[in-house]
Amino acid sequence: MDKPMFLFCSRCGGSKLTARTYRLFECESCRFEHYINPLVAVAAIIADSAGQILLIRRARNPGQGKVSLPGGMVDPGETAEQALRREVMEEVNLQVDRLDYLASFPNQYPYQGVVYPALDLFYTGSVETFAPARAMEEVQSLMMAAPAALDFSNIAFSSVEQALRLYAARVYGR
Ligand SMILES: [Zn+2]
Repeated sequence: MDKPMFLFCSRCGGSKLTARTYRLFECESCRFEHYINPLVAVAAIIADSAGQILLIRRARNPGQGKVSLPGGMVDPGETAEQALRREVMEEVNLQVDRLDYLASFPNQYPYQGVVYPALDLFYTGSVETFAPARAMEEVQSLMMAAPAALDFSNIAFSSVEQALRLYAARVYGR
């Protein structure tokens, strides 16, 4: 990141922002320091009893039409687990029973012309039943796939691909 994410100072409206480091921009008018921190997102790998995992096809950009996992942004004040239970309910109408932390991977989230750095936290989750599952907010359709049969060419985010590869390697012991 060699130029500021934003064109104007969010405190005084000044238009001269100078990069001090790759993640710090200073306003020349009021000296306000803008730190660029990653936003936090969460996603769940939820397997059925046959070992197939729940995938979503995204209805919106970034990654519209591409495949991802249920999940989303952590709101201020939420725990990662609260955010993930909320997002899974909002997106696929499922109540998550148990969540176990898997791994985190950095990501980039382009939105309205700004590329936000993100940190994606991945969990494995379980549900009592998949019966209520349906495509809801921001989701075009749902599918179940065996980790060995995943098409990595159509995954929406590199972080999701990394998490799925890690999960598949663990499931198949390699
Ligand atoms: Zn300023």
